[in-house]
Amino acid sequence: MSERNIIAIVDQRSPATLRSPWPLPQIPASISAPSGLLSDGLGRPLRDLRISVTDRCNFRCSYCMPKEVFDKNHQFLPQTALLSFEEIVRLAGLFVAHGVHKVRLTGGEPLLRKHLERLIELLSAMRTPDGTPLDLTLTTNGSLLTRKAASLKAAGLNRVTVSLDAMNDAIFRRMNDVDFPVADVLAGIEAAVAAGLGPIKVNMVVKRGTNEQEIVPMARYFRDHYDGRVVLRFIEYMDVGATNGWRMDEVMPSAEVQRLIDAQFPLEPIDPTQVGETAERWRYRDGGGEVGFISSVTQAFCGDCNRARLSTEGQLYLCLFAQQGHDLRSLLRQPHPDGRPYTDDEIAAAIGLIWQQRNDRYSQLRASQPADSASPSGRRIEMSYIGG
Ligand code: SAM
Repeated sequence: MSERNIIAIVDQRSPATLRSPWPLPQIPASISAPSGLLSDGLGRPLRDLRISVTDRCNFRCSYCMPKEVFDKNHQFLPQTALLSFEEIVRLAGLFVAHGVHKVRLTGGEPLLRKHLERLIELLSAMRTPDGTPLDLTLTTNGSLLTRKAASLKAAGLNRVTVSLDAMNDAIFRRMNDVDFPVADVLAGIEAAVAAGLGPIKVNMVVKRGTNEQEIVPMARYFRDHYDGRVVLRFIEYMDVGATNGWRMDEVMPSAEVQRLIDAQFPLEPIDPTQVGETAERWRYRDGGGEVGFISSVTQAFCGDCNRARLSTEGQLYLCLFAQQGHDLRSLLRQPHPDGRPYTDDEIAAAIGLIWQQRNDRYSQLRASQPADSASPSGRRIEMSYIGG
């Protein structure tokens, strides 16, 4: 019997009704074309859009979609609630006009979305206002990568990030909670390298008491096998959502992870490649490649956050810890009070206004709370819904 401290899910999704229960985003009185120079109330630009393409996943990682909550009775979103590819592409185009140049597909498990390659083809044809193709990437649990790496690349995907929490097969099977073997994910990573979906990142969530013994074996494996072509990143276990029973004592601070690796394979810090980068970068002093640390709990990094998230059903979230989204889907599906559809300019203006009014810094505020408390109580969004 599991002893996990599970809290029932608070469902914030829309019922599958035609009329949305959420307020319609405001359309500004005066509409001007996006300049690509949008900035929020704290001066942060909009550069990075994460799009969740499904709320379903074939894994049941206890820290993300615990089996006890996401069981056979769990109601996933109906097909009609999901944004269609045409709707995603329309919105993505408006975000790109506002300055987005990086798009990450996520979920749920994005590779479960049927015909995803078609969406990738459409997104990869898109250009920023200065004519540059998007940096188009995808986060996956790797389970379907051996089958899909070549077709994803052919469709125009640039890179992938693969989530993998252990090298040890028994620990990995326990963590994904569907008995999925680690060898199949490793084969998926190999297939992605062979298909040219690099530089590949591998993300390991470290949960104290569960997989910290895997830190050094993971570092060793990717050093030995990939000679710098795969960047391993360690993620602090975050208090996202309300179902994983998060506890501060299960968070292993990045500083501790870094010391463990450094003792085996000496490290030195390197500069970030771009503003707003989530990971702090370090490299092996012997030239064996680099590793990253994503310290969203112990070193919150809201100051240069340039990311927006589009949920599977078209809600725009400005933060993983946001308690409410902005209902862009209704602007796509509901008529304007005049009876006509909303125009691109109107929807772009609504997005612009939402971003300009943004002044959140949830992670930093969280950091000032008592160490054993999760983020402010109330409505908290599940990672599988909003996309990681
Ligand atoms: N299914 C895909 C995957 O496994 O990468 C994409 C979605 S998943 C929600 C995205 C990432 O979020 C994964 O790397 C996962 O490990 C991470 N994640 C989920 N819950 C987390 C938590 N509570 N703390 C830290 N990372 C988490």
